[in-house]
Amino acid sequence: MAGKKDYVNSLVSDNREKVEHHIREILRLIGEDVDREGLLETPARVTRMYEEIFAGYEVDPRDVLGVTFDEQHEELVIVRDIVYYSQCEHHMAPFFGKAHIGYIPSGKIAGLSKLARLVEAVSRRLQVQERITTQIADIMDEVLDPHGVMVVVEGEHLCMCARGVKKPGSKTVTSAVRGEFRTSPALRSEFLSLLKQ
Ligand SMILES: [Zn+2]
Repeated sequence: MAGKKDYVNSLVSDNREKVEHHIREILRLIGEDVDREGLLETPARVTRMYEEIFAGYEVDPRDVLGVTFDEQHEELVIVRDIVYYSQCEHHMAPFFGKAHIGYIPSGKIAGLSKLARLVEAVSRRLQVQERITTQIADIMDEVLDPHGVMVVVEGEHLCMCARGVKKPGSKTVTSAVRGEFRTSPALRSEFLSLLKQ
């Protein structure tokens, strides 16, 4: 139960009835019969989904890394294929994909599962992919003070698919580099080649 609580956004939870009411009003305004059987539980279901997908607002992403100290390891560490799910702030439509994080520690390291928690904390809110990418890089940089950080995020955006701007299935790729990754093309290509394996 303790783990479950991490995902519950107390703002939505504290205002469940109001959120349900407004979802019901939107259903009415798009022309739906809110009393038909298929929709009776929809406002409550959407609200429960909001508790989960907007849980990031209740988390300070700086707190999730669980820093430990290890003077020995100063080689590239990569955690790749961290699945995320977020909501585009322009359309409130889902976008999702994978984040890949590489960094070179300089004494402080983060638990590998904690990098996934960081991705979760920044993506479970209204976002744009570019900002998810830079926030992960900036928080890694700020909290771990590493020699360098590189973050690559891939995403599929349903608002693009639905509005026909891009073909369904097309991916947006964003990246952010800090520290030694900025100045070393060799380091950037080492990271990128390890992502392809
Ligand atoms: Zn959008």
